[in-house]
Amino acid sequence: MRIDVVSIFPGYLQALDLSLVGKARRDGLLDLRVHDLREWTTDRHRTVDDTPFGGGAGMVMRPDVWGLAVDDVLAEGPARRVLLVPTPSGERLTQRTVEDLAGADQLVLACGRYEGIDARVAENYRARGDVEVREFSLGDYVLNGGEVAALVVVEAVARLLPGVIGNPASLVEESHGTAGLLEYPVYTKPPSWAGLEVPEVLTSGHHGNVARWRREQALARTAERRPDMVAALDPAGLDRTDRAA
Ligand code: SAM
Repeated sequence: MRIDVVSIFPGYLQALDLSLVGKARRDGLLDLRVHDLREWTTDRHRTVDDTPFGGGAGMVMRPDVWGLAVDDVLAEGPARRVLLVPTPSGERLTQRTVEDLAGADQLVLACGRYEGIDARVAENYRARGDVEVREFSLGDYVLNGGEVAALVVVEAVARLLPGVIGNPASLVEESHGTAGLLEYPVYTKPPSWAGLEVPEVLTSGHHGNVARWRREQALARTAERRPDMVAALDPAGLDRTDRAA
């Protein structure tokens, strides 16, 4: 997969050289390119913003500069290209969205700053029809820029790409996976710490009991912390012991 991130603070994305994403890049599993939006400015001051039509506080990012940048970074030919525009007024980013994005050939992340990007940028690419446009939000709060949102998307998508996570089994039971539950609590050595013991069942060696305990814990934790997720569960996917839990 190819991912292009365009920002006026490319240095913000340096974290993508680290850890699993950095390794995926070095291993050739992910073609990640970070660009400085100012490369596409045409004036001496490398201007990317201007005052809002209609008045009001703050500055708005210019569509002409963004248009040149996006046109340039969109790859020729790939079957599925997605332009991702982080904004607090977008659809909420979920694991389902991330799974869908992991199937694309190219993602282009347009990191806004100031009061955001002129609305015609998303409108223009949506109208063109040769690229999907998704305006997405990380949550109901306002950040200073889209770079953090870009980091979130790259990290969440990259770990779903084949070969990025060493043991793909670790993806199966994770929170927000296909079961629609939060993950059960996890423990490691030492078995006793700060007066707290690891639940006995986990050291019993009885795989069936461990699996049952984990399922019950996942259900109980989800019910307590995210009743909205429990309400969304398919009743056909629950067995009698699930209901009791
Ligand atoms: N004036 C905008 C509004 O009220 O909707 C907020 C602009 S914000 C200060 C600047 C940039 O930060 C946005 O263009 C977007 O790229 C990013 N941003 C802020 N909050 C975000 C969120 N919750 N999710 C995704 N991106 C966000």
